[in-house]
Amino acid sequence: MEILRIPALSDNYIFLLYDQNQQIAAVVDPAEYEPVAKILQEFELNLVAIFNTHHHGDHIGANNQLKAAFPDLCIYGGAEDRGRIPGQERFLQDGDRVEFAGRIAEVFFVPGHTKAHIAYYFPPAENESTGELFCGDTLFAGGCGRLFEGTPADMVKSLTKLRNLPDHTRVWCAHEYTLSNLKFALTVEANNENLQERYQEVQRQRSQSIATIPSILGLEKLTNPFLRWDTPELQKAMNSDEPVQVFGRLRGQKDVF
Ligand code: ZN
Ligand code: FE
Repeated sequence: MEILRIPALSDNYIFLLYDQNQQIAAVVDPAEYEPVAKILQEFELNLVAIFNTHHHGDHIGANNQLKAAFPDLCIYGGAEDRGRIPGQERFLQDGDRVEFAGRIAEVFFVPGHTKAHIAYYFPPAENESTGELFCGDTLFAGGCGRLFEGTPADMVKSLTKLRNLPDHTRVWCAHEYTLSNLKFALTVEANNENLQERYQEVQRQRSQSIATIPSILGLEKLTNPFLRWDTPELQKAMNSDEPVQVFGRLRGQKDVF
């Protein structure tokens, strides 16, 4: 299974999973039709699945057009998103499994950004060490999604599930927000050397318009404050040692950053 990152809208990424031998593809959160259709045509791929993480417009924008172009494809989304994702045919719950090109992904229910948000995790293929996590707007590189329909407690629970995955996991999140996320992170963990280093690197990348996605989960654990509610420096900065409170205060500060 190969993965292609397709920039869309102002700062979204659409991810195209494909298998050149079988000439099939699946798309995660198709924000726009044109860039996806163009690549499918170029690579002569048949689109067999849309994997939606949640119902927001910048994640489901091309569902209907893609379904019209590939009537046999199946549209997957969270069970709680029933009625909100155009064309949804499969209603996934925590622990469900979905298949693409011989790979099985595990579904995680990760509410917080929305009440129905799910993530898809493909464990490493045989003889490989890298798993693939498609987490929509739940976990970002250096940050996390805003709490539109959930509480800090929901999000801590959701992010804990993702944080428990292996360090080698590649994090395919749906937006290029990394630079501004790290800028904020430095305001709450100024002495984190891994974070300082990462900020320099991302600054360099973005100045050359290089994408920072996918990120690596191990690096997120070291530098993303929204996964670090149990580190002393962050607890001190948030004036609490209670995980949900640390996270809630952090999220509150980021909301107005
Ligand atoms: Zn969203
Ligand atoms: Fe989004």
